[in-house]
Amino acid sequence: MRWWLCPGCGDIQYAHVGSSCRSCGVRLDQAVAFDDALSLALDHPDPGVAAHAARLLAARMPPNATTALRQRARRPGAPAVLAAVAEALGALRDDGSVRELAEMSRTGWLEARCAAVEALAAIGSAAAQVALRDAASDPSEVVRRLARDRLRPLEAP
Ligand SMILES: [Zn+2]
Repeated sequence: MRWWLCPGCGDIQYAHVGSSCRSCGVRLDQAVAFDDALSLALDHPDPGVAAHAARLLAARMPPNATTALRQRARRPGAPAVLAAVAEALGALRDDGSVRELAEMSRTGWLEARCAAVEALAAIGSAAAQVALRDAASDPSEVVRRLARDRLRPLEAP
């Protein structure tokens, strides 16, 4: 018996060699590259595992990291997961992530919305500033104040 990270669904299970995943039925001993496993783990049922996968993707920066994180940002999830995904997208500082982060800053959990605002500030591009200006007139005072705070140094001459 050993621990496996399911290549089909990202679930972590204790099983014999040759066993199939109890969640999705895929064979657990199929080879899966670590960075691909991290992308799969973004959908792990345990929010702590999924959030940790997002942080590892930002730290390791494999070629598929931004795409996997953007796709995850577009799907619903636990607040801690979406916040970690936003944080990771901010750390990767890719201007192409602004659309997903702007959307996340407008809808969903407050924790994720604030993380999206921070990520937009970390990117800091012209498009990110446009999204931050939208967030600066958000109905939520928390989001509004955070966006204004983060805009100030970006707009300073
Ligand atoms: Zn599975």
